[in-house]
Formats: sequence, C-alpha cells, structure tokens
Amino acid sequence: MGESRMLTRDQDTCPHTEQRPVENRSIGPDGNEVVDVERVEFSTMDDIDLHRVKCRLCGKIGYYSGAARAFYEDGIKSPGISGLE
Ligand SMILES: [Zn+2]
Repeated sequence: MGESRMLTRDQDTCPHTEQRPVENRSIGPDGNEVVDVERVEFSTMDDIDLHRVKCRLCGKIGYYSGAARAFYEDGIKSPGISGLE
C-alpha cells in the first residue's frame, strides 16, 4: 500500500548528516595497538546524478550549483549545466 520510501526525518529538521563510529588504530607508548572509536559526522547526501544530491534520511534534493537548480526546477538551460540535456 502506497510508497515505502524509508524517510525517517523531516526535511526542515534533518541535519543531512549522520554520526558513525570510526575506528582509529594506532600504536601506543607500550608498543601495543590501541583502538579508539570516534564518532564522525558523515553527509547523508548521496549523488543521484551529475549535478544533484539527495538526502537518504529525509529525501531533500540538493544541487551542486545554481545553474543545476535552475535547470531541474525551472527548465532553464545555461552553459553551467552542459551535459545534462
Ligand atoms: Zn536530510
């Protein structure tokens, strides 16, 4: 029934980032390996084509340039988006 898009966030409140644990391995002063787990912020904006990104949490579309936005939202072609048509 209906769409099953897995959107978990509201576009207005979504930070378009998520925290993920990343392991930092290093050798400690005693010569043993030390593993630090750090939470790092990653963008959740994935490329959907040459000039657009989409947040996988909230579905918000982002553009790499004003020219790309004008093309997709208003159909305005300009030299900045050559290759899209
Ligand atoms: Zn988002």
